[in-house]
Amino acid sequence: MSYTNFTIETDADGIALVTWDMPDKSMNVFTIEVMDELDKIIDQVVADGAVKGVVITSGKSSFSGGADLSMIKASFDLLKDAQAKDPATAVEKLFEATGRMTWLFRKLETCGKPWVSAINGTCMGGAFEMSLACHGRVASNAKSVKIALPEVKVGIFPGAGGTQRVPRLANAQDALQMMTTGSSLTAARAKAMNLLHQVVEPDQLIPAARQMIKDGLKPVQPWDEKGFKVPGGGIWTPASAQLWPAAPAILRRETAGNYPGALAILKCVYEGLQVPFETGLKIEQRYFTHILQTTEAFSMIRSLFISMQELGKGARRPAGVPKAEFRKVAVIGAGFMGASIAYVTAAAGIPVVLVDRDQEAADKGKTVSEGLVAGAVGKGRMSKEDGEKLLSLITPTPDYANLADADLADADLVIEAVFEDRTVKKEVTEKIEAVLKEDAILASNTSTLPITGLAKNSKRPDQFIGIHFFSPVDKMMLVEVILGKETGDKALATALDYVAAIKKTPIVVNDTRGFYVNRCVFRYMAEAYDMLIEGVPAAMIENAAKMAGMPVGPLSLNDEVAVDLSYKVFKAAIADLGEKAVDPRHLDLVTKLVEGEGRLGRKAGKGFYDYPPKPAKKKLWPGLKALYPQQKADDVDVKVLEERLLVTIALEAARTMEEGIVTDPREADVGSILGFGFAPYTGGTLSYIDGMSVKTFVALCEKLAASYGSHFQPTPLLKDMAAKGETFYSRFAPQEKKAA
Ligand code: NAD
Repeated sequence: MSYTNFTIETDADGIALVTWDMPDKSMNVFTIEVMDELDKIIDQVVADGAVKGVVITSGKSSFSGGADLSMIKASFDLLKDAQAKDPATAVEKLFEATGRMTWLFRKLETCGKPWVSAINGTCMGGAFEMSLACHGRVASNAKSVKIALPEVKVGIFPGAGGTQRVPRLANAQDALQMMTTGSSLTAARAKAMNLLHQVVEPDQLIPAARQMIKDGLKPVQPWDEKGFKVPGGGIWTPASAQLWPAAPAILRRETAGNYPGALAILKCVYEGLQVPFETGLKIEQRYFTHILQTTEAFSMIRSLFISMQELGKGARRPAGVPKAEFRKVAVIGAGFMGASIAYVTAAAGIPVVLVDRDQEAADKGKTVSEGLVAGAVGKGRMSKEDGEKLLSLITPTPDYANLADADLADADLVIEAVFEDRTVKKEVTEKIEAVLKEDAILASNTSTLPITGLAKNSKRPDQFIGIHFFSPVDKMMLVEVILGKETGDKALATALDYVAAIKKTPIVVNDTRGFYVNRCVFRYMAEAYDMLIEGVPAAMIENAAKMAGMPVGPLSLNDEVAVDLSYKVFKAAIADLGEKAVDPRHLDLVTKLVEGEGRLGRKAGKGFYDYPPKPAKKKLWPGLKALYPQQKADDVDVKVLEERLLVTIALEAARTMEEGIVTDPREADVGSILGFGFAPYTGGTLSYIDGMSVKTFVALCEKLAASYGSHFQPTPLLKDMAAKGETFYSRFAPQEKKAA
């Protein structure tokens, strides 16, 4: 029999080598078709008397990324459809659909012939769950082998037997840690946890897997043997009496109860270990069906998987513009941002000319890359040769003539990252254009100056665009691409091709003060200023933010971006827009910190926090208490603080949609999570609103406006959407659908 996604070769010893290699895909994933074929393969090898056992491996450099999440997204549609047609049986249908993988893997492990999974590269989610159902597991010791059950990161959990098999192999604490964090294991760590039988040299992988069968591997899992005991003795032991009461508390500390998928893992393991294995699978299937119906799972899969992938593949790229080739990129300004932009560009294999005012400043910029390379080589993440190659791609120079140096090629793209000063930027633009080839694109990394204004310095404003990076550039996955009034399609396509080349996720934003991300971030910090001024204890503000799901509290974040930056932004807004542009109480607070106390943020060792020398931890500055009369902690409703912090950001995101700054809800959502970690369980700023319904959000805004100020007033767009029962995703259908 032949298959689309697998090949089977049986050797003289009767061992069938099943190779998973999906055509037209860079990585194997579980789809309905793959499951159907695997089902047939199990029947085929069972029926074939010549086959003694099976080794399953991958024909690609990775083993598999797990389930195709589009398939899971399809189950949301299935549920919606079934609910409309026959609500009584809708959940039952979902339950059946979610059990497909579970019972396929159960069929594999009880088929009567031994299976060995030969893991040659990254093995994630459903693929590792299939491996766990195999009777033997061998992995290569190559660095590229990463093993994980990462489902919790998109709001679900390992629902194809993972929660039952892992704690029947590893101890419960390690099992919970692995599944509730979704973190990756090396092959060595997975073996130490008892999740693998062997770790071997890459060229020994298939021979070792075959040998396990030749050595008489039993086609029976430990949990199907009589007298099987769970590692550590199960739930009713003294050790478990230590673990289980603490586990939900630890999870709550880490997730503030915001991730139902993570809690479901605890329930599946706790309940599943007290019953026979197949009953445990059913328990898991029930919780999985429940989790799939949560708003969190729906929103996280949509934003963190589907939309992120679509944006990464250039969902907003204008059609018809040929793909840009980057033979050379120039970065002007080798300071804090420029130096790291040079690094990420060279890391993508693109030659970079790094220009600053003199050779010393340009060289200093390159030392940043040298430091990053040394760190990566030291940690074994990069080979010495790759590190040397990366550094050889960066040419530091004060000479603009290098932009057009015939040695390599003329720069195809120039990214300007000089001081945030209109005059300096104008002068630099003129110097660049004096040497730049006609069709090259010029981009600015400005964080506050409108692109349309900067484009006036250029002779070719249609080739001028904003490419706004976030710090630290090597870690932050988001890039905001800013369109000026005259920016043309070629500039947009080139910017998006560049962001794709450096493997980051772009959002496309129309020109405005603060663009999208910083507008939202400033609202977050402004709400914290309001709270401080009301006398809310600073620690409560920071904790409320964490409980709402924000990775960093607003005061801590303000210290990171620098308190004097907030001060400068206020001053610039007053200069450009007049006194009314800034809340005088906010200006007063920031002025007290910056001018009165020299508290400029973390860089100065003091801001809203004090930063004592390491290893001591930062502490909130006690002087904050003296700035405003303090409320008693018991009088403050933490739930309301949480709402205020999320609502003020989401409301700002809604304003950017209303003003046409952001035009696609996917970009608002993905930008908010990647840009400043907006409570990921919500799926992002607009999914937060859609998830509770626009009507509920409008009511919440009105309630908050009555007590905390008119900045909470819902906008006309929101009111209109509430009246019509619309969502952002229905009203602002993603661009591509619109085009269709
Ligand atoms: P920086 O002061 O660290 O670096 C600026 C660099 O530009 C310096 O090395 C300086 O010597 C160089 N420079 C100044 N005039 C020059 C000239 N005429 N020719 C060549 N080089 C010149 O500043 P930064 O923080 O890296 O910011 C640079 C740009 O990036 C600004 O537009 C800023 O708004 C933007 N930005 C900054 C951040 C951030 O977190 N710092 C984030 C996003 C965007």
